[in-house]
Amino acid sequence: MNTACPSCDTKLAEDPDFCPYCGHLLIDGTEAHCKNHSTKAGVGVCIICAEPVCDSCAVRRKGRTFCPEHGNVHVEREWALVYESSDISDAELAKEVLTEAGFTVVGRDFTPIGYVWDGAGDSAFSRSNLNKRAKIFVHLQEYDPATEALNEWAAGK
Ligand SMILES: [Zn+2]
Ligand SMILES: [Zn+2]
Ligand SMILES: [Zn+2]
Repeated sequence: MNTACPSCDTKLAEDPDFCPYCGHLLIDGTEAHCKNHSTKAGVGVCIICAEPVCDSCAVRRKGRTFCPEHGNVHVEREWALVYESSDISDAELAKEVLTEAGFTVVGRDFTPIGYVWDGAGDSAFSRSNLNKRAKIFVHLQEYDPATEALNEWAAGK
């Protein structure tokens, strides 16, 4: 199966019920009732928790759908911001915690100047020079479990 999402044109590998990139519903809304209103038809799916939302619950940002709970999660492409800090060593620790817990993690900033915390060209100097916060992203649908892992880590610190 090699279809594309009719809303955002992302290639869909299988035959999913919704587009994981933008939350466009690919089945009838009556088969995907709102996570908060069990009788209301879904109009989209939250790209963070993968739960359907109805017309009054859906939060739309840049053509993508979120539930009210995840309406403020910062996303970039297929990544969700799970942690940020101005303290690089703190961010490094958080990243280690997530990596050890099995999450795929990127530490970077998606600004047009292409600042990359991971990888070549980065240095303590460039960081302080740009006065950037270290940002840690995980895959969209790993946001909740990753947040939970970080909360456990913070509680045990
Ligand atoms: Zn889509
Ligand atoms: Zn959600
Ligand atoms: Zn609802």
